[in-house]
Amino acid sequence: MDKTVGILGGGQLGRMLAESASLLNINVVILDSGDYTPAKQIVVPSSTEKAHIDGSFADPVKIRELAKKVDVLTVEIEHVGVQVLEELESSVPLGIHPSPSTIRTIQDKFLQKQHLQTNGAPISEFISVERNAESIQGAINKLGLPLMLKSRTLAYDGRGNFVIRDSSQIEKALVALQDRPLYAEKWVPFVQEIAVMVVRNTAGEIASYPAVETVHKDNVCHLVFAPLRSRDPAVPQRARLVAEAAVKTFQGAGIFGVEMFLMADGTIYLNEIAPRPHNSGHYTIEACETSQYENHLRAILSLPLGSTALKVPSTAMLNILGASSEIQEVTNFAKFATTITGATVHLYGKAECRKGRKMGHITIVGNSDAELRARLRPLLANIPGGSS
Ligand code: ATP
Ligand code: MG
Ligand code: MG
Repeated sequence: MDKTVGILGGGQLGRMLAESASLLNINVVILDSGDYTPAKQIVVPSSTEKAHIDGSFADPVKIRELAKKVDVLTVEIEHVGVQVLEELESSVPLGIHPSPSTIRTIQDKFLQKQHLQTNGAPISEFISVERNAESIQGAINKLGLPLMLKSRTLAYDGRGNFVIRDSSQIEKALVALQDRPLYAEKWVPFVQEIAVMVVRNTAGEIASYPAVETVHKDNVCHLVFAPLRSRDPAVPQRARLVAEAAVKTFQGAGIFGVEMFLMADGTIYLNEIAPRPHNSGHYTIEACETSQYENHLRAILSLPLGSTALKVPSTAMLNILGASSEIQEVTNFAKFATTITGATVHLYGKAECRKGRKMGHITIVGNSDAELRARLRPLLANIPGGSS
């Protein structure tokens, strides 16, 4: 395609984006700290001018350096230096996608929720709180218990979240979420978590992927099932419409992951939006006509979008989370997974393993839900850290 894409962030999402780019012969230049991040490991620069950059994706100097080398800039993480992206917006030939203004709003979860609510998205109650016990007690008085206290910035995998079950835990919460600006959400007693990937290209064409069910354990995505099975057959389509409408309120091209909560009465609340490829969309690599990664590249390079349809009747994605610092547990499990028909193993090449760290994932496809479950069962029985 003779184009160079600069990616801020070199983790597993960048790695899968780069895998997809290689099929289209799109050059990729990565900015992240370290020479051997998951994404950098798989991309040999096409020339010395296109060498990767060692530095933080929050560092303005490094971001400027990256911008000089590429036709278009994108992100695989939202916690990037956004002010410099705003300055660079008009100087990168094919632009920055999603637009810096979108990243700015989304990277502060409180501003994101305000933006979504103002634009008519279904958002459950939330309020701003100060970093002190009185303010948090005020939030408890207003929203009740349990209260979900969240960090506004730099949150991922639930690491900015603290569930306050009674007022005696306020101090503990303040310690746990140190140095972070905070806000509070009313507890949402959902029956299911849903996600929809939405993609929009530079021409404004929009498409969404099938709604999926996401299962979280300890705030971290554990499993994804596609398509979403719901007692009410109208739910998947409604979820897609909510997700598409929400993405339309933001500027810029690219793929977005929309996380939602389904209530017992059928109400859908929007939880949060990620302005990038998303864990709930990994399954699209093996199970959809066009993966979330390829569609992201098509979107930002002004190519026509590819079909988002499933090409298998039933699919699941199982995250391989570290159970301890012992990487051998992960490797052994990955080896075991290669014995399962219909399973595709992805290991991210992370040098160090930690409890709860995303080390890889497995996509499982089946010709029916029953076949899928039969293939998934032995995997769940053998995951690092014990079965679930
Ligand atoms: P991600 O890795 O998805 O970016 P995050 O750190 O931004 O995660 P959230 O998505 O805000 O965290 O929350 C993580 C999980 O915590 C959700 O998927 C859901 O299971 C639970 N959760 C979040 N908010 C609420 C809420 N208000 N009520 C009940 N559960 C919640
Ligand atoms: Mg998040
Ligand atoms: Mg989330």
